[in-house]
Amino acid sequence: MRAEEGQKRRLMKQAFEARRRFRARHRTYRGETSPLKHVGVPEGLYEKCKRCRERFVKDDILENKMVCPSCDSHFRLRAIDRLNMTVDEGTFIEKGLGYISLNPLFQEDYEQKLAENRERTGADEAFIYGYGEIKGIPCVLGVLDSHFMMGSMGSVVGEKVVKSVEYALVRRLPLVLFIASGGARMQEGIYSLMQMAKTAGAIQKLNQQDLLYISILTHPTTGGVSASFASLGDIILAEPEALIGFAGPRVIKQTIKQELPEGFQSAEFLLEKGMLDKIVHRHAMKDTLYRLLYLHEKGARL
Ligand SMILES: [Zn+2]
Repeated sequence: MRAEEGQKRRLMKQAFEARRRFRARHRTYRGETSPLKHVGVPEGLYEKCKRCRERFVKDDILENKMVCPSCDSHFRLRAIDRLNMTVDEGTFIEKGLGYISLNPLFQEDYEQKLAENRERTGADEAFIYGYGEIKGIPCVLGVLDSHFMMGSMGSVVGEKVVKSVEYALVRRLPLVLFIASGGARMQEGIYSLMQMAKTAGAIQKLNQQDLLYISILTHPTTGGVSASFASLGDIILAEPEALIGFAGPRVIKQTIKQELPEGFQSAEFLLEKGMLDKIVHRHAMKDTLYRLLYLHEKGARL
């Protein structure tokens, strides 16, 4: 009995902390400063390119949209940076505040891991969504952040994705989702898997209402997320060289007992096979999204 009370008190404390952070963050979004300035540059002054091994000053590389100036490799982005690059300054209003993950299966260390991730990223969960404008065109934007527990989908991420769809339905706005995820959240077991059906069902409602849904697959898009709402976009874009797939190569090889082609889970390979509509460089992403949204809103070419 005492253990239960302790757990309850701990969760209430977490919820209180989360709400306090939400309020602080929400104020920044509404103010004249961009969220990036508030959160600041992540720890460490330098960023090393994983491919060409060159080192860059973090501010410079952020200025270059986290794309390596030497080899054009796209680095992983935090949700807040992605939003800054995509929406018009000062237009983003975060929605769906106040959700925090619980520990439904009483997994060891899960609560601690969540707390660490919240602390490190300054976000409360792996998914952020809200209202924003892209070159003046209003839309609902959502971003999965792979820095928060690999962007894995637990009950809260699933619920927030559904909320973003419902918000788009109510406001009759197009939905734009940036995906980066390791898949289902292991610690939530079946609750996590249930989110696949739930999010796919929600996207179906968008279809029925003839609303546009653009999904952008970034590195990495794998597991349960790639097998549900990520692949259901009316238009599916991807970033260059993004890893996109359901299971890892070794698992597939063991299951189908066949040799796998080179680079079969890259965005380029999937484009060739017709699974994607276009690969878009990060520098051209905002313009491409604007063109697509404009085309669907006004029904005319630019
Ligand atoms: Zn490089």
